[in-house]
Amino acid sequence: MLLSAKLLLSYQRCQRQAFLDVYADRSQKAPPSDFLNKLRQDRIELQRHFFTTETGVGAEPKYPTGDWQAGAEATLAFMESGAPSIRLGVLLTQPIDGVVYFSNPDLLTKIPGQSVFGDWLYVPTDIRLSKRPKLEYQILATFHAFLLASVQGTWPEVAYLYLPEQGTYPVNLPRLQPKLDKMLCDLLSILRDRLEPEVFIVHNRCNLCGWLPHCYQLAQQDQHLSLLPGVTPSRYPLLQSHHLTRVEDIAKADPVDLAQIMDLGKEVAFKLVCQAQSFTTQAPILIAQDSPTATSQLISPAPIELYFDIEAEPSLNLDYLHGVLVIDREHQTQTFHSLLADCPEQEEQIWWQFLELALSYPQAPIYHFCPYEVQAIERLAVLYGTPDTLSQELIGRFIDIHALVTRTVVLPVERYTLKLIARWLGFQWRNSEANGAQSIYWYSEWLATGNHHFLETIADYNEDDCQATFHIKNWLVNFLAPENSLTSLVDE
Ligand code: SF4
Repeated sequence: MLLSAKLLLSYQRCQRQAFLDVYADRSQKAPPSDFLNKLRQDRIELQRHFFTTETGVGAEPKYPTGDWQAGAEATLAFMESGAPSIRLGVLLTQPIDGVVYFSNPDLLTKIPGQSVFGDWLYVPTDIRLSKRPKLEYQILATFHAFLLASVQGTWPEVAYLYLPEQGTYPVNLPRLQPKLDKMLCDLLSILRDRLEPEVFIVHNRCNLCGWLPHCYQLAQQDQHLSLLPGVTPSRYPLLQSHHLTRVEDIAKADPVDLAQIMDLGKEVAFKLVCQAQSFTTQAPILIAQDSPTATSQLISPAPIELYFDIEAEPSLNLDYLHGVLVIDREHQTQTFHSLLADCPEQEEQIWWQFLELALSYPQAPIYHFCPYEVQAIERLAVLYGTPDTLSQELIGRFIDIHALVTRTVVLPVERYTLKLIARWLGFQWRNSEANGAQSIYWYSEWLATGNHHFLETIADYNEDDCQATFHIKNWLVNFLAPENSLTSLVDE
């Protein structure tokens, strides 16, 4: 059996992913998204930058693609000859209990010390795009060290991660080695015994996984509880142990009992039961954690309303598009403003344009979806020396529709995202493939190619996001209207 660093990374993200990588039919795995390909390309660029600026010319083993044995032999030859640094080498162990371990550290650096080669040994460095030294990457660096111990006859004292914002980060090998040992042991037992881990959809984890279409189909077929908002990986085993294995079981549960057996707050348990009821009836339920009247007042139609959505590129710390939909009820007009930075340097320019636009409607509430817009305004205000009074006055007009929806109603949706809520209401995006990650890819393509089509596609997507927020807000106004005599479960 071959156990690679890539498989270990999959296992750390999701045990099922590692199992499917080994045993499932590969044709069921979706190809990497444009966004994922962009991340891979960004990592290659970062490696190039690191090699150019930090290591000078290093040895690089040449071998036929996929022939890891040849790669390992070429790397070993460089190590034996005492090459000062080896880029993109291959480490391969002899079989250990029938398992061959394999990894490809980005860099091996020669340092003084004793090894089977003589009075030198090698330490590994992995180059990662991450802003912080994630545990999964530290474990991989420890895995490289484990393989090095086998190849050079001695453990390196340290391994490194190179991160764009932090520079070189030393990994504490003695602390992580026991974790790695346990992980390898658990992974091998799953693989040897062919124990297929159950599907559990966690969207922010699964969204970047190629097995998602396959797993999601299974989850839907089984009406798996992981599709129910509020059922987390830690709550799931508890629900199972109390025979609450189907959505209908939770829908019929008494929230007070549920709170007790699950050690949940009363409100959380109540919301979970409502969520299950909403799923089974496919209808919204008023939960009114806030007074519905207060919410209604907050969103009651104003003569002019602004709907605001930002597109950002987190890896560049850049907010490159401010989209503002102006709804003028008096004149019955809708105007969309797309304030787009053609290049990262224009971020300041579009910030002042946005301020000017927002301040030209001083009475208008500014609706947005989720907290990002407020965080971005705070960041941009500080970055570009905007008077506090101005930015605070602006933020005082912001109303988060996501917060209002989640505090007021429970909906038959799998997640409370703009996309899923608006789609449940019948709203459609012009481009069904569009999403935040895709727009990051489009912007990088615009910067690389200068093709205006990418900018237009982003602007359309952003406008649809603003329209979707408008759509949800209108729905909420109607839903909370007094004539809608829906029963609040809170009162029961
Ligand atoms: S889609 Fe999710 S559950 Fe399925 S293998 Fe990938 S990460 Fe795991």
